Amino acid sequence: MKIMLSLVAAALVATLAAGTGPNGLKRMYVLDCGRLIARDQSRWTPGVNAGQPRELSNNCYLFQHERGTMLWETGVPDSVAGQKDGVTSPNGAVVWFRDKTLVSQLESLGLKPNDITYIAMSHSHGDHIGNVKVFAKSKILMQKLEYDFAMNTTPKPLSEDQNVEMLSGDRDVFGDGSVTILSTPGHTPGHQSLLVKLPKTGPLILTGDLVHFQYMWDNKIVPSFNFNKQQSLASIERVARLIAEYKAQLWIGHDKDITARIDRAPKFYE
Ligand SMILES: [Zn+2]
Repeated sequence: MKIMLSLVAAALVATLAAGTGPNGLKRMYVLDCGRLIARDQSRWTPGVNAGQPRELSNNCYLFQHERGTMLWETGVPDSVAGQKDGVTSPNGAVVWFRDKTLVSQLESLGLKPNDITYIAMSHSHGDHIGNVKVFAKSKILMQKLEYDFAMNTTPKPLSEDQNVEMLSGDRDVFGDGSVTILSTPGHTPGHQSLLVKLPKTGPLILTGDLVHFQYMWDNKIVPSFNFNKQQSLASIERVARLIAEYKAQLWIGHDKDITARIDRAPKFYE
């Protein structure tokens, strides 16, 4: 009896260490969430490649978990899809393009906006939050600092009556450690990154705009337009430690070369 109890206790300790119970994450789809054309890439890499144009990719990620679905990022607004010459971003730095709408890509996976349980975004810039108003019923997981920052801009990117859960730090979305929102402030006041543990693919971290290109990651470059440089560097260090701890892959959504090596929907990762 005593042996039985200690076995049970050992199993419990092991379960806690791994998160809470078996990983219920089934699939991750990568969606095309637009393209950004910049006239001068040294906006992100001061003094490097000045005057050179650069194309940035933009991805959204759909998670199917046994306890619901989550969309990470909503991308460039779907209204941009009708504009063949693109639309200049509100700050004038880039021109946005959208080859396919987000809603049509969800539809081809058999989903309507109201089917999405959770929406989370790295931050509230227009190429990430662009379609959030479409998800009127989903619960939006957002740092309170980012919500206050976003709702101070005109036009407001979220509707006043959206179902927002205000976060102040990390959040284990499904309670089993498979999808964890990481607080990584700096680019904006409440910027978040995402730690994903897929059963077959293994751990990966989705950066949002923690960095925009591999070159910036390798050289720890913080663009001058970030909200807070010290926080940005601390967040990069934090993610670097997590990558080492979990042996995670780093997926930088705006890096076109990285995106080119990733399979987009209808293919998926398990
Ligand atoms: Zn961005």
